This record gives sequence, structure tokens and C-alpha cells, in this order.
Amino acid sequence: MSTAAVSLGLPPVPRVRRSREEVEAAAEVRGPKRVLLAEPRGYCAGVDRAVITVEKALEHFGPPIYVRKQIVHNRHVVETLEERGAIFVEETDEVPEGAMVIFSAHGVSPAVHQEAAERNLRTIDATCPLVTKVHREAVRFAKAGQEILLIGHDGHEEVEGTYGEAPEVTTVVNDVEEARTVQVKNPDSLRWLSQTTLSVDETMEIVEVLRERFPNLQDPPSDDICYATTNRQSAIKELAPRADLVIVVGSTNSSNSVRLVEVALQYGAKRAELVDFAREVDESWFEGVATVGVSSGASVPDVLVQEVLDLLAEYGYSDVEPVVTAEEDILFSLPKELRAKLREDGDDSRVLGGRGARPTT
Ligand code: SF4
Repeated sequence: MSTAAVSLGLPPVPRVRRSREEVEAAAEVRGPKRVLLAEPRGYCAGVDRAVITVEKALEHFGPPIYVRKQIVHNRHVVETLEERGAIFVEETDEVPEGAMVIFSAHGVSPAVHQEAAERNLRTIDATCPLVTKVHREAVRFAKAGQEILLIGHDGHEEVEGTYGEAPEVTTVVNDVEEARTVQVKNPDSLRWLSQTTLSVDETMEIVEVLRERFPNLQDPPSDDICYATTNRQSAIKELAPRADLVIVVGSTNSSNSVRLVEVALQYGAKRAELVDFAREVDESWFEGVATVGVSSGASVPDVLVQEVLDLLAEYGYSDVEPVVTAEEDILFSLPKELRAKLREDGDDSRVLGGRGARPTT
């Protein structure tokens, strides 16, 4: 095992890729090589808005700007913002008194707002408006005396934030198993809500199990799983049955990206892999492969997808067919604290976040 480089803190030795000819010699490819490219993929309006928020805050308030947690779950985005002067911290107590801190797109609980106020931090809240919608629902239903089953992944920042709105009446349900065993105090005044980035199908399975046990369970007023998650899963469902291999660009801590890999496998892809960068693609995955599906999570800039497409082209997959299942034109205003500063400084270059506002950075 070549652990020496790691233990000595030396950079890893770059891997030499096998050539296209070597890969093709390893296994016969039946049929023409092609790529099915999911559309929509990549940046959603909430992520674009959050990233612009940090960029504009750096530009107008100057570094350092602190950001609680990863602004969005993507290594490339976080590293790029760090280079520009953003400092990512886990908790607000790591931020010096009086400094500026941005809350990430995943949202925070009221307790975090409180801590920030107690330490005189200047805050900008980049919580996605669709996450805020779920927070408001939790508050409203708790005030109305309802008990809440929050479907989502324990420990995910978004779930921590929503749970924190009404902890005394909320129980997190992670999966079907927990749906079978969860205990409630008030089955006749019960509501389910969910994390915004779950698998649509899996969530419905969980709800079915809950409803069998609690027939009076009430739905959220509108879908909590957001449009971006739903649309990216729909595109993957369309291309997966035709793909020998699906490559999803996204980080392992990105819930919606991980769900895309799972959905691809559920819908018939022979293999599905998650990569942060093109350099993580292993050319052995191409052995015997005619059709490669490509998509990316909602926190992934398209430049990273383009690098994967360039790599695929080197291995003969240059024929790219878009698989379009939806058009997206959602836009969100930047956080109000930032808008005020942009107005003051006469900057009206970016007041909205969303696809089309910045397609390829
Ligand atoms: S994935 Fe959905 S909820 Fe999350 S930031 Fe994007 S639009 Fe908002």
C-alpha cells in the first residue's frame, strides 16, 4: 500500500491514464459511442443566489467574510470562494465579535440567529427561499398545535435548521424503517414536511408507510422537495435506462447529487458514479461502454461538467445528445441585507440568482 506519500505530507503521484486504444482493447464496445446529457442539471436558483451573495459581499464589504458551513455543498465552489477571501467556519463562535457572517443556502435554526446576535455579528442570510418556506411551514403548524414528522437525513444542515424551528413538536424520519416505528403523541393532528433535496420516489414510499399507520396525516401545503431536485431527478430517470454508465458531477456531502446516483441505478443505469472533478473519472469505467449519461447536482457549476465532457471526448464519446425534460426560469432576489448595500454602492449588476443569470462559472 502506497501510504508513504500521504504520511509524509507529499502530494500524490499523478495517475497516468490508459489511452483510448488500451481501454477499447480491454472490452468490446457494442454500438456507437455517445453521451446523453441531462438538462436541467447543475446550478439551481438557490445555489446561484448563495454563491453570488458571498461574491458580492466580498466585493462590497471586503474580506474577510465568514461563512457558516459550506455555502453550498461543492468543493470547487468552496475552494474558489476561499481563494477570494471567504473563511468557512463550522459555528458562529469561531467568528470574531462584530465580524460579518453569511448563513449558507441550507438554512439555520433560530438558535443560530440568536447566537450571532449575542456576539454582535453582522449577518447575511443566504438561506434558499425554498428552504425558508419549509421553516415557515414548521413554525405555522407548530403554532397551530400540530405535531410534525420531518422526512430527511439526520445531521444534514437543512434538517437541523428546520428541526430547530419547532424542536418540541418535530421528529425526524430518516427512512422507511423509521417510518414503521416512529412514535407520535398526536396522530390526529399530524403533518409531514421534508428536506428539499430528497429522492421524490423514496419520500413518497416513506409517506405511504406513515399514512398507513396514521391515516389522518396531513400533507405539506405544496411540495417541499424543490423544483430543482425534482427536475434533475426527472432528467436522470429519462436517460438512465439507456445508459451503460452514468457520471454525476457533485460532492459526496451534496444530498441532491448523491440522490441522482441512486436514482440512476434505480432506473436502469448499469453503473453510476459520483465525481467532484473530471480527474476522478476512472477510464476503466469506459470498458465495453457505448452510452454514458452525464448530469450534475444543484450545487455544481457547469464548467466542471464541461471538463468531464472533454475527457469523455478524448475516449471517443464526442457525440452529445441533450436529454431535456424541463425548462427552468426561477430567479430569486439576493438577501435583503446585501441588496441594501448594493443599492448604496450603486451596483445593479446582479440582484437576482438563478439559471441564465450566470450559466457557466
Ligand atoms: S436545491 Fe432546491 S432548496 Fe436547495 S438551494 Fe437549490 S432550489 Fe433551493
